Amino acid sequence: MKLPKSVANLISELEKLPSIGPKSAERLTYHLLNAPKENSEALAAAVSELKDKTVTCKTCYNIAEENPCSLCGANGRDKSMIMVVEDPLDVLALEKSRSYDGQYHVLGGYIAPLQGIGPEHLRIKELFPRLKNGSIKEIILATNPSVEGESTAMYLQKLLSPLGVKITRIARGLPVGADLEYADEVTLSRAIEGRQEY
Ligand code: ZN
Repeated sequence: MKLPKSVANLISELEKLPSIGPKSAERLTYHLLNAPKENSEALAAAVSELKDKTVTCKTCYNIAEENPCSLCGANGRDKSMIMVVEDPLDVLALEKSRSYDGQYHVLGGYIAPLQGIGPEHLRIKELFPRLKNGSIKEIILATNPSVEGESTAMYLQKLLSPLGVKITRIARGLPVGADLEYADEVTLSRAIEGRQEY
């Protein structure tokens, strides 16, 4: 059976998304076909607004609605620490854990030479201007407890230690190979509390 072109199109777009296989893509497409038109219109509008209405914060490189983002711009937050994370989903998870109220720095990934990802591909040099005025007293390395996350943390520790700022690494309560993004809130807040000088 040949699918109508518009049906096949949506299936093929959905299939490109992470953790959506061909079966799920078909199911979602037919779900939308059966649902009221407003549902698919709302979805289409949300998808198209996603890129139009978001920016990257030029201070922490988190995804935000304005620059600087609400975290960098907030008055009540601790301006003496920066937590370095791999991606914006980590910021989301850490904020949900409510155990940290400092600043963030989003690297945009991890160092993985075998995948062709070197330090120059991450927002590492962008960290230095933030350390210039001496207000940052602690840098918390919160890359994932994976092989790549650990080697990224090690690289950053070597790079940053000459600056004389205290450098800590979140505790190892997180399972090895785990992703911060999927850690529960209690585990995350324990990992932050138990951070150790690196
Ligand atoms: Zn920001």
